[in-house]
Amino acid sequence: MDNDACLFCRFITSKEKEKQKLYEDNLVYIMLDDFPISRGHSLIILKEHAPELGSVSSGVARHIGRMTSLVSRGLKECLKPENIYSASLNEEVKHLHVHLVPRYSNNKIGFDHFSSPRGKLINYEDVSILSRYFGLGAKG
Ligand SMILES: [Zn+2]
Repeated sequence: MDNDACLFCRFITSKEKEKQKLYEDNLVYIMLDDFPISRGHSLIILKEHAPELGSVSSGVARHIGRMTSLVSRGLKECLKPENIYSASLNEEVKHLHVHLVPRYSNNKIGFDHFSSPRGKLINYEDVSILSRYFGLGAKG
């Protein structure tokens, strides 16, 4: 696929997405999902255009695993969900990304949720709380 036509390749350089960015390093871009399934629904997007986990080096895969764990911990500490649902689905956008969906006691999450229409809702207060958490985490 032409990278210019890829939604996530555009996100990681977009000025507009900057407002919902939680963390960024040389390999990944982490932001709140535009259409959250639940409060704090985050995306870990690999900066390199690769279709799925099986097509990246083991070093990159390890970094994604590490970030998945770190962001899960941050979401748990900041938003107090019961647990975090994580999934790497590459159906609609064929660019490696991991969804982290906090699961609160009253919400059940299934694969159907990813394809159902969801309302657009960016919680900028959560962006501020979480980006501060990850900013501090990166320094310490
Ligand atoms: Zn891409």
